[in-house]
Amino acid sequence: MYKNIKLIAMDLDGTLTQHKQPLEPAHHEALVALSKKYKLLMAGAGQVMRVFNQLGQFPIDIIGNYGLQYGKYNTETKTIDILRDDSFPVDQEEAERRVTMLREKYGYTDFTGDNVEYHPSGCLTFPLLGTKANPADKLAFDPDRKKRRAFYQDVVETFHDYNVFVGGSSSFDMSPKPYNKYYALDLYCKEMGLKHENVLYIGDDYGLGGNDESVYLSDFPYLTIDDYRDFPKLVQPLLD
Ligand SMILES: [Mg+2]
Repeated sequence: MYKNIKLIAMDLDGTLTQHKQPLEPAHHEALVALSKKYKLLMAGAGQVMRVFNQLGQFPIDIIGNYGLQYGKYNTETKTIDILRDDSFPVDQEEAERRVTMLREKYGYTDFTGDNVEYHPSGCLTFPLLGTKANPADKLAFDPDRKKRRAFYQDVVETFHDYNVFVGGSSSFDMSPKPYNKYYALDLYCKEMGLKHENVLYIGDDYGLGGNDESVYLSDFPYLTIDDYRDFPKLVQPLLD
């Protein structure tokens, strides 16, 4: 079943670790075992160095910011060489206008802090409760994502020049088109001379608006995971 697989690409938060938490020993062991048989690649929504440090500096190549960043592990220095670090200019006035329009349309005009969060890469966050909202309020806001999925399609259409994700606990994350995990993996395959059938992707966020959805809906072989604690058991058949 896995005979064509040469590379295992995976998401981090919710797939290999709990959100923003360090790698657990059983998961570290699983990665070490996988690395003896396959090439490994992380495909993250966050920055390359954030992913690398969260993994306890595990030796692995990392796609960050939906493909805007790429870092290759250097076996001599035991750190990451950043080989790509793209950023896009943002028309902030236009972003504010669009977000304000959506807030008024869907009743999210009451917020704490800033209207929009701007990242150095050109990615945006539309925080429904504002950038300075209380963390407990954010967590309680939309655990099943129903509130955001209710108008996800309108956010997608309003930000037509971005890929839009139902991100974090109470926000929409956006990357400038064409960047998303599918685009990043496809680019990686072209650079490495791999076919899509040579790559197995593992990710938890494959539902509507999830940051792994673009890969899930594509021709890449895909293993879904719903609880990161299942990771060592999930990958066992790849090691047999
Ligand atoms: Mg995830």
